[in-house]
Amino acid sequence: MNIEQFYPLFLKADKVTIDSRKIAKDDIFFAFSGENFNAATLAEKAIHDGALAVIVEQTEFENRDKNIFYVPSTLEFLQQLAIYHRNQLSIPVIGLTGSNGKTTTKELIHAVLSEKFNVQYTSGNLNNHIGVPLTILSIKPEHEMAVIEMGANHQKEIEFLCTISKPDFGYITNFGKAHLEGFGGFEGVIKGKSELYDYLIHNNRTIVVNENDPIQVEKTEGYSSKIGFGKENSDYNFESFSEEHFVGMVYEGVKAVSKLTGEYNFTNLCAAGCLGLHFGIGFDRIKHAVEQYTPTNMRSQVVKKNNRTMVLDTYNANPSSMTASLNNFITFEGRKTIIIGDMLELGAESEKEHQYILKLAQELSFDEIITVGKHFKAINPSNLAFENTAELTEYLKEHQISSENILLKGSRGVALEKIIDFI
Ligand code: ATP
Ligand code: MG
Repeated sequence: MNIEQFYPLFLKADKVTIDSRKIAKDDIFFAFSGENFNAATLAEKAIHDGALAVIVEQTEFENRDKNIFYVPSTLEFLQQLAIYHRNQLSIPVIGLTGSNGKTTTKELIHAVLSEKFNVQYTSGNLNNHIGVPLTILSIKPEHEMAVIEMGANHQKEIEFLCTISKPDFGYITNFGKAHLEGFGGFEGVIKGKSELYDYLIHNNRTIVVNENDPIQVEKTEGYSSKIGFGKENSDYNFESFSEEHFVGMVYEGVKAVSKLTGEYNFTNLCAAGCLGLHFGIGFDRIKHAVEQYTPTNMRSQVVKKNNRTMVLDTYNANPSSMTASLNNFITFEGRKTIIIGDMLELGAESEKEHQYILKLAQELSFDEIITVGKHFKAINPSNLAFENTAELTEYLKEHQISSENILLKGSRGVALEKIIDFI
């Protein structure tokens, strides 16, 4: 079965899914073997659920149902189908990568562009070698634009994802200390993320540049197809302001205040504002989009509970985003407790980076510093250093947190959100 022969069937399908729980009639199901199920069992279920087509690679599987298609590699077929589909599309595709802020920026760009266009975009955090093709395959004839988040933790990943998403516009949110292990240090991060620039430059596509970021400026120097923000003489210049911890931007005297906390979200807002203006959306509409966008995803989310202000940033953490988060939280009025979880995937830099963050937290003089995870525990002699959330939960059953402001930030693996109910 080749892609070209299969494509007409794809066009008839409602959606493509790899999740056997989500199969509906007229879907295309890609059966990947998992821990608990093998592909053959899933394929049977999909046919039973009315799937239009099932892609499976298990050769010993006997079912001769005409809707079951056997391929040498399910993953490769998914990626190739996405590439084929992408080649048929003539809408602008915006590609995003970076160490921090991809999802937030993606959501903001989507909110802004949706003021005028029908925009498809990455759902949640589906930003890898499976998520990117699935997002591309979710683009329908009615869509006028797409925003694609691309994540990476090693070299050549973004290069590969660009061959699938083929972005016409690209933006790197920042170069930070994330996934240092896989990238081979900070220089490796710059190189790996810049694969997006390599693609855009090679194909003469447009780069969105934060002109306040020296790395972005250096990496795009001399390239002409750029849209810039951040400096007075940039194509678009926004000023920053904040209102009760919420970050906002001003454009030509008009203020737009978001529901995001953390100064770092200013550049995320700018990127969205910049693309909005570029595509002819008036700032009044951009303001509307920015003001109605409410994060619900544990990223820079502010929650009021029992007269307390909690900043939930438990989705992920690395030294750059942790530093940004602490510097933001220290500006809150009143007593402040921070509950910080380990930053994972730092490889050889791990101990040094945890020490750096703990020292920063101490220097900023938070009223109470609670750490969760083995890495912090190894360097934090305090009796408020907990091995995991279960230990902290036990502590919280006996002890109250005294501050009216509480920050929760840690890596995904630490799952700090588990303790919210005990605060
Ligand atoms: P992932 O790698 O998990 O996909 P991401 O790049 O999509 O992460 P977000 O989920 O948007 O990033 O944000 C994660 C956290 O990164 C935020 O909660 C915040 O602490 C921090 N962050 C967001 N934007 C920036 C930024 N521009 N610069 C530095 N840190 C940021
Ligand atoms: Mg993300």
